Amino acid sequence: MQRPPFDTLGAISTTDESTTDEEPTPQPEPRSFSELGVAAPLVESLATRGYENAFAIQDLSIEDALAGRDVCGKAQTGSGKTLAFGIPTIQRLAEGERGKVRGLILVPTRELATQVVEELEPLCEAVDLSVLAIYGGADIEKQIKRLKQGIELIVATPGRMIDLIERKEVSVTGVELVTLDEADRMADMGFLPQVEWILRHIESDHQTLLFSATLDGAIDGLVTRYQTDPARHEVEQNEVTVEQMAHRFLQVHQMDRAKVVATIIKNSNKTMVFCNTKRACDRLADSLDDLNVASEPIHGDLRQRQREKALGAFADGKIQALVATDVAARGIHVDDVDVVIHFDPPDDHKTYLHRSGRTARAGGIGVAVTLVLWNQELEVKRIQKRLALDIPIVEMFSNDERLGDLFSWDPTTA
Ligand code: AMP
Repeated sequence: MQRPPFDTLGAISTTDESTTDEEPTPQPEPRSFSELGVAAPLVESLATRGYENAFAIQDLSIEDALAGRDVCGKAQTGSGKTLAFGIPTIQRLAEGERGKVRGLILVPTRELATQVVEELEPLCEAVDLSVLAIYGGADIEKQIKRLKQGIELIVATPGRMIDLIERKEVSVTGVELVTLDEADRMADMGFLPQVEWILRHIESDHQTLLFSATLDGAIDGLVTRYQTDPARHEVEQNEVTVEQMAHRFLQVHQMDRAKVVATIIKNSNKTMVFCNTKRACDRLADSLDDLNVASEPIHGDLRQRQREKALGAFADGKIQALVATDVAARGIHVDDVDVVIHFDPPDDHKTYLHRSGRTARAGGIGVAVTLVLWNQELEVKRIQKRLALDIPIVEMFSNDERLGDLFSWDPTTA
């Protein structure tokens, strides 16, 4: 069968932007949620989170899904896919009856179930809908009790959902909207038979949304069997994922921190170091200079020419490190960056990925090193949890041999 081409819209990440803050490469103008036809209560709820403009996958999918079409979206975690299916699901459910299960989102893991519910709960509240996470390993009686209170939207892992259907504690016969989230992961985990079992038990006419990082093989089969003339949308993935690089979390001491950075840089090819402020970038570049490491700061207070010069010197290997703020680093594409150092821990997991994505580009090997002062441990652990990076924070001094080859040791056994 001839497939319709995918609608594609530029990258979701900021990595296509220019290296300067003044002259960004033109990007498609992002549309606001209201422009996409999202209802006022939902727009208001999103605005309280600071979300006004849609991400690419949302821009592509929301209108079609609101119009009742099946949507097949190729998008990864971090692309904003949860709201791409969540907003239309909630808006369509808001129009109908309360007290019965009318929406179902199937996800591969309990963590994802919880995350999706957290993301969608405020929107459900805004239109008076109840949403419930259902997953294995949690108290089933509690879930049954919540179901009896009347739930319109369920976010579930397939196994526990089937368990509850078989016990007749819940029914999917009247489901109007079903989403398969991370369909490729559900396939990898062997859940497709369960997913299909559930889909077969939906009796009513319904809309099916499917999101997956890949759409070949088993997923293609799902699309053919369970979707009708789906709108196909894809966002380019410029971000690397956590699996594509090594991660080291080093507990360091304030007085020794710059020395640790210097040792790593000396033992690497090209290093990008991230600081949270322009001042911190300048100070660190000065300290590195004192430690005989050639680096340049790169941030918004520097003239365009200075930044270009620094970037050129870095790309040519004349200096070994760039010390950058997040804003200044946007769009910097330098090959062979083998180490990214989070001198200051990033604000959140998205920033961690953005920064770390400067290494391991195009399949190269890379390592992301996060320096952790004693009072930063909690925030770093929060980011690790969000990225499912279960890696110990290892105490490290600048004279430690392990800094000479960050790949050669395993932090889980260190
Ligand atoms: P997801 O890919 O659905 O896990 O989303 C990734 C992250 O982006 C989540 O933390 C969302 O809350 C956030 N997010 C999703 N859509 C938007 C948006 N339009 N504006 C800002 N942040 C968003």
